Parts: sequence; structure tokens; C-alpha cells
Amino acid sequence: MRIAIAHNTNDKTLKVVAHLKTLLQKKDGVVFDAKYPDVVITVGGDGTLINAFHRYENQVSSIRFIGIHTGHLGFYTDWRGQDVGKMTDALFLREPESAKYPLLEIELVTEAGEKKRFLALNESAVKRVSHTLEADVYIDDQLFENFRGDGLCISTPTGSTGYNKSLGGAVIHPQLKALQMAEIASINNRVFRTLSSPIVIAPDQWITIVPNADHFVMTVDGKRIDVRNAKKINYRISNKVIRFDRFGHTHFWSRVQSAFIGERNDKL
Ligand code: NAP
Repeated sequence: MRIAIAHNTNDKTLKVVAHLKTLLQKKDGVVFDAKYPDVVITVGGDGTLINAFHRYENQVSSIRFIGIHTGHLGFYTDWRGQDVGKMTDALFLREPESAKYPLLEIELVTEAGEKKRFLALNESAVKRVSHTLEADVYIDDQLFENFRGDGLCISTPTGSTGYNKSLGGAVIHPQLKALQMAEIASINNRVFRTLSSPIVIAPDQWITIVPNADHFVMTVDGKRIDVRNAKKINYRISNKVIRFDRFGHTHFWSRVQSAFIGERNDKL
């Protein structure tokens, strides 16, 4: 098994990484391969896993991810730092099984017709930092609305608990193959009108944003890309998925509860 370990550099994480390496070295057939791994183990937070996803996004179809958190339970991290022994044992004791979650495909088309593709795990937003963003929004090539405001955010189900949630979007279970679009401070008055609520589109649908601006900012999982001379941006669910090792995978609504409400022990 070819394994890569990706981690942040805080002291707690570095201790967990050292322990993890020692445990893995004792297992037969383990090769540390940061270039072409079968399994990527991340140690840190959700941000660490997002960075690792982008590092290996071209190989995402052949990789399984395992997230170890060294802080709070994350949305992409299942294991606690103190449970790495249990995690390494589980990795070698059974047939691999994965939980698969949708990814967002972003196609940026320039005025010259050039196409640039990006893949997001959480979301992509189109924004203007100063001045209002004006854009036409199409669903399946049909004009849906003329948007005016700070921007628009398109998120995956796993990304729905990130930036999308802060924008008032719904939290969506990641087994649903659906994309959500949430508005960022839209202008609504007698002249300009948008739907003013988040929408969730079906798996085979796509959203096209045609910005009426020479330049704007597009983010992909929080990373800023300055865009000039874009004709349109197409958003759809990618054919690719991210795969997480299923063993030890935490129930989605338990994560949501733990992150946003707080642990409770009451049972029905
Ligand atoms: P960052 O500082 O790495 O992350 C900001 C916070 O969002 C961190 O606490 C991170 O958790 C958490 N996070 C990341 N993905 C999440 C998810 N799917 N569900 C719930 N929480 C999540 O910020 P960044 O590098 O600029 O962007 C990374 C992601 O963070 C973005 O894709 C965006 O979804 C989210 N973000 C949200 C807001 C907001 O809500 N206003 C603002 C900026 C970024 P960890 O501490 O475990 O890494």
C-alpha cells in the first residue's frame, strides 16, 4: 500500500505524525509515496484535507483519503489524534470500503473561447471586492435572473457546511448529488430583483454565470483567482468523486450537531 501523509505544522500535529509514521513502518507492504499514493492520510483540520485534495486532485479517482483531526471533529476528518493506532490497524485488517462524495466542476470560458477547468471540494464563489457584481444567471442555458450584489456561491453537499452555511444556505447531506447556489448580499428593490433564497439544482443540471464585468474574483475552496476577460463560468457536478475510507467515518448529522449545536446524549 502506497501511503502519503499530509499535515499542518502545529506541535500537536507533528507529534501525531511522528507516531503515525512509526506505526505504519511496522506494517508489511507499506511504502511512503508522496507522488502516487493509494491512500492519503491528512493530519490537522479540514483545511489540511482541502489542501491535500488539491495537491492530488488529478489522481482523485485512484486515492482514498483518511482525515485525522488534531483539533475539533471536522467535516473531512474522522479520527482523533489519540486513535491513530486503531486507525492503522483498521487500514490493514479489512477490504477497503469508501464513502464517495460529489465534487464541483468549474469551467471558466474566456472571451477568446479558451476553457480553464477547476475542481472544488467545498465551493466556488464569484465576487467583486469593490463595486457591485452584475451577472446573468442561467440554469440549463435558460436565463434565470439578473443578479446584482456582492456575489454568488456554488457549493457541493460537503461544502454546504462551510462558506455556504454562513451565507444562509441549507446544510445538505453529502450522499445527495446536488449543487447549491447561495447569494452574497444581493440588491433587491423595485428595479433589481433576484430570487433571494438559496437554490438546490438536480444532479443533471448546470448553472452558468455570465458576469458583466471586465474583472472579478473567483474563489475555489477559499483560494482567490483574479479573473479578467471571462465570458462565462459553468458549474456542474463533476464525474469525479472524492473517496473517504469508510471505516470510522462519522455519521454526517453527528458532525453537524457537534460542530454547530454541541454534543447531547439524549436518545429517542
Ligand atoms: P480556512 O481558514 O482554511 O477555513 C475557515 C474555517 O472553515 C475553518 O474553521 C475550517 O475548518 C472550516 N471549514 C472548511 N471546510 C469546511 C466545511 N466543509 N464545513 C465546515 N467547516 C469547514 O479558510 P480558507 O482557506 O479561506 O477556505 C477554506 C474553506 O473554509 C472554504 O472553502 C470555505 O468553505 C470555508 N470558509 C468559510 C468562511 C465563512 O464561513 N465565512 C470564510 C472563509 C472560508 P478547520 O479549522 O478544521 O480547517
